[in-house]
Amino acid sequence: MSTGSINVSVENIFPLIKKFLYSDHEIFLRELISNATDATTKLKHLTVIGEAKVDYGNPIIEVKIDKEAKTLSIKDQGLGMTGEEVEKYINQVAFSGAEEFLEKYKDSAKDAGIIGHFGLGFYSAFMVAEKVEIFTKSYKEDSKAVRWICDGSPEYTLEETEKSDRGTEIVLHIAEDSLEFLEESKIRELLTKYNKFNQIPIKFGMKTETLPLPEGSAEDAKAETVEVDNIINNPTPAWTKAPSELKAEDYNNFYRELYPMQFEDPLFHIHLNVDYPFNLTGVLFFPKLANNLNIEKDKIQLYQNQVFVTDEVKGIVPDFLMLLRGVIDSPDIPLNVSRSYLQADGAVKKISSYITKKVADKMVSLFNENREDYQQKWNDIKIVIEYGMISEDKFYEKSDKFALYPTTEGQYYLWNELVEKIKPTQTDKDGKTVILYATNADEQHSYIASARDKGYEVLLLDSPIVPHLIQKLESSKENVSFARVDADHINNLIKKDEPVISKLNETDKETLKKNIEESINDQKFTVQLEDLDSTDAPFTLTQPEFIRRMKDMQATGGGGGMFGMGGFPEMYNLVVNSNSDFAGELLKKENAEEKTAMINQALDLAKLSQNLLKGKELTDFIKRSFESLK
Ligand code: ADP
Ligand code: MG
Repeated sequence: MSTGSINVSVENIFPLIKKFLYSDHEIFLRELISNATDATTKLKHLTVIGEAKVDYGNPIIEVKIDKEAKTLSIKDQGLGMTGEEVEKYINQVAFSGAEEFLEKYKDSAKDAGIIGHFGLGFYSAFMVAEKVEIFTKSYKEDSKAVRWICDGSPEYTLEETEKSDRGTEIVLHIAEDSLEFLEESKIRELLTKYNKFNQIPIKFGMKTETLPLPEGSAEDAKAETVEVDNIINNPTPAWTKAPSELKAEDYNNFYRELYPMQFEDPLFHIHLNVDYPFNLTGVLFFPKLANNLNIEKDKIQLYQNQVFVTDEVKGIVPDFLMLLRGVIDSPDIPLNVSRSYLQADGAVKKISSYITKKVADKMVSLFNENREDYQQKWNDIKIVIEYGMISEDKFYEKSDKFALYPTTEGQYYLWNELVEKIKPTQTDKDGKTVILYATNADEQHSYIASARDKGYEVLLLDSPIVPHLIQKLESSKENVSFARVDADHINNLIKKDEPVISKLNETDKETLKKNIEESINDQKFTVQLEDLDSTDAPFTLTQPEFIRRMKDMQATGGGGGMFGMGGFPEMYNLVVNSNSDFAGELLKKENAEEKTAMINQALDLAKLSQNLLKGKELTDFIKRSFESLK
């Protein structure tokens, strides 16, 4: 037996570890299981290369609670340690990591999640234990088993012990303030959270399994039951396999394994697999999203060698892909380090751009393989694609190959197809091609109809980030502009060099305009006289593109905050068709009261077609209309 003092300059390190890392203390279990897993896979490697001449077998890791003794133990069948190795790896190396940590964070407890990065792994046990024992026996021939014990002071004891089997058992004597870690439910919760896909099987207790009845058994035969190891993890999840080994069904099953509460199948998956210049595997899923931007739970999970790290993937996964689900596993992502550190990390940056590229490539191949199917899914994936287009330039650059522009008639164009199609008809007199769009096919129906009458295509762009997307397209594509169908009269949205015929002379027009302005007497409406076809509606309300777009952008955040806290005022143009019969009638009307009534009735009709007539205005309108039927 030998006793010694851990080589440390800080008087008593353990209370400090406990204090500094308090918020994260549950991760001790993950750290100890990671060590047990490492020890097992190391032994496997040694047997493969012929270094270790032992029977590797089918090793498991066992987690056990002894409530009476107040211990929690983690036992592996890995390579074990000799006395010298304990001296070296536990007393010196592991501890230097702890020291480094304390040096850096002595004065600031701010950055709590730092354990793995500083190699504080093993010592994190002292966050929950008042005393830790290690029983270990090396795989090496003739090595003697040893026991190490330390009660949280820098003094430890190392002595020979009885242990017949190879491997290591860590026994934690749980501290009074951490007794929750003696609860079966708590440990099961932690194992499920962090080690659901651990590389080595983890046994936690026993479970009863019912054996299938032998063939030809009697009807009332009782099925036999057996007690078997309760293995809590799946050591070979889908992302660790080659895509060629997996069928669509396997991916869907894995999706459900990851998110047991998700009942709907994902739309499709992307299998990630790269080993240069960094290592990364994973599977991302596109769930059905429609226009939902607020996904709180069931997020992408980040793993390091099949050990759960976090589902806060901001900074690692580009923002637009946070709407997806799935798993990313990379040994190159530092385990459990602070946000700011992660974002500055070179490997992490490369990972983010790799994932972006991979998603773009997948879109291209989905589109090329089966356009019909891709079009059908468009409504559910567009929000991710559009978000990607406005936020990641690399993604945007490729988007011409997979971003779709659907029309109100149910056609889907790629950008170039769209421009080619509409260029001959929708180019205005200044040579600009105007892309007409609607955001709501029902509400903007009459405007869509006018545009269709002219032979124009109208896109249906209804996701909340469309204003931003349009801005992006306008600024990067040449000679195009977007206009919502209700932004002005269709003749003004795409101005052509056509002679205009005016039925009224200038004086009449001025009188008409004045009459209407006086009758309406509302700042909200700007009267705009237009020489349109006599069959066009006498009054139409439009909302200028610029104002409306700013308003929309403000609603989805970002841009257009120029009107301050109050938001944007409601503003409309009242387009009056001066060639309509109605305009002629108005001018002829002698009785001022009747004239005002006519104007207001027409304005109400215009509002009605824009869904703007509400409340008392609507009640009055209906009443008036009935009376006029008498
Ligand atoms: P790290 O895992 O980052 O090396 P730890 O503090 O978790 O740091 O562990 C320190 C060292 O102790 C390990 O590198 C390993 O050599 C040894 N060790 C810890 N747990 C075990 C175990 N269960 N079996 C064998 N060796 C172990
Ligand atoms: Mg470790």
